[in-house]
Amino acid sequence: MTQNPLSAYRRITIKIGSALLVDKAGKLRAEWLAQLAEDIAALKAEGREVVIVSSGAIALGRSLLGLSALTLTLEQSQAAASAGQIALSQAWADALGRHQIVTGQILITPNITEERRYFLNARTTIQTLLSLGAVPIINENDSVATAEIRYGDNDRLSARVATMIEADLLILLSDIDGLYTAPPAKDPNAAHIPVVDAITPAIEAMAGGAASHLSRGGMTTKVEAGKIATLAGTAMIIAKGTEPHPLRRLTEGGLHTLFKASTARAQSRKRWILGTLAVAGKLQLDAGAVRALRQGRSLLPIGVTKISGTFERGDTVSITDPEGREIARGLAGLDSDDARLVMGKRSEFIGDLIGVGNRSEMVHRDNLVLVSTTEEVE
Ligand code: GLU
Repeated sequence: MTQNPLSAYRRITIKIGSALLVDKAGKLRAEWLAQLAEDIAALKAEGREVVIVSSGAIALGRSLLGLSALTLTLEQSQAAASAGQIALSQAWADALGRHQIVTGQILITPNITEERRYFLNARTTIQTLLSLGAVPIINENDSVATAEIRYGDNDRLSARVATMIEADLLILLSDIDGLYTAPPAKDPNAAHIPVVDAITPAIEAMAGGAASHLSRGGMTTKVEAGKIATLAGTAMIIAKGTEPHPLRRLTEGGLHTLFKASTARAQSRKRWILGTLAVAGKLQLDAGAVRALRQGRSLLPIGVTKISGTFERGDTVSITDPEGREIARGLAGLDSDDARLVMGKRSEFIGDLIGVGNRSEMVHRDNLVLVSTTEEVE
C-alpha cells in the first residue's frame, strides 16, 4: 500500500490557484470546489488543522464586472479583486458550510507578514480561528495593495502564511503535478522529481532560472515559496489540483514533489527572520565573529568589518563571512547610522559613541539565525 504523504503533518496550509477555482469563462468551478471541501473535511476529521490560501478574486471579479480585456489595468484588477473577493469568500463559506465547517476571511498585505507587530496580530487571529475549529481563508488584499507593495503571487504569500503560523506543511495545488528537470511542455525528456532534499541552484535552474520573474505564479515563484517554507522548517508539496478530489488523490499516493524542510523546527521568531522577503542591509564579519556566532553568541560591533544598506533597529539584515557568503540573518540591534559609528569598536566604548544605555549588540543572539545547513537551528 502506498503511504499517505500527509500522515506526518498536523497543521497544513493549502494554496489553491485561480485556474482551479475559476473556469475560462470566469465561472466558479463549484463542483470541483465541493469535492475539495469534502477532502478538507476529511483532513479535519483526522484531527488536522487546515488553512486555505485561495486565489481567484480577480478572475471571478472580472467576469462579474464584465471586464473582458486580456490585460487589466491596475485600477481594473483592483476593482475586480474587490468584487470577486466577496464571491470567493461566499463560495468557500458555502462549500465548507455543507460540512458544518465555519470559515473566516483574512486579507493580507506584505506589511502584515513582514512587520512583527502586525504579524503577531494576524497570527493570533489565525490561531484563534483554528482553535475554534474554523478554516481561515486567506488572500492578498489586492484591492488596496499598490503595485510596489504586494506579493502579486499567492505562492510566496502562502509560504509566508505557512511559516507565520508554523504550519508543518504547505501544499501548492496547481495545474502541474510537481517539479520536472525541465518544463515538460517544452522538453519531452523532462523527468518528474519526487523529492527535493534542498533547494540548490540546480533545482532553481529547473524551475526556469532563479532571477526570472516572467513566470509569475509559475514554477519560479513555487520554488521561491519552497525556499521560504523549507528554510523555516515547513515542508512543501506541489501537486496537481485540476482533477476531482485533489487532496484525496494525494493521500492515496498521487504524483507530487515533496520539498523537505531544511531545518529542525525553528522557534517561531527565528522562522520569521529566516523567511523575511526584504533584507534591509548587510553586515560582513571577521573570522572571529563568525566563530562566536557559530558558538551561539551575539554579534558585537567589534567583529563587523563592513556594513551596507540603510536599516532601522529591528529590520532584517543579512550577515556574511569575510568572503561575503551569507551565514546568518538577524534583526538589527542598532540602526545603520549607529551601526556604522560603532563598527569595529570594543563594546566598552559604545556608550561614548552612541549614548549610554544603548544596547551594545549589533544583533542579539535571540534575534539571530544561522542559515548554514550544517548547523542545527533550534
Ligand atoms: N490574489 C490573486 C487573486 O485572488 C491571485 C494571485 C495569484 O494567482 O497568485 O485573484
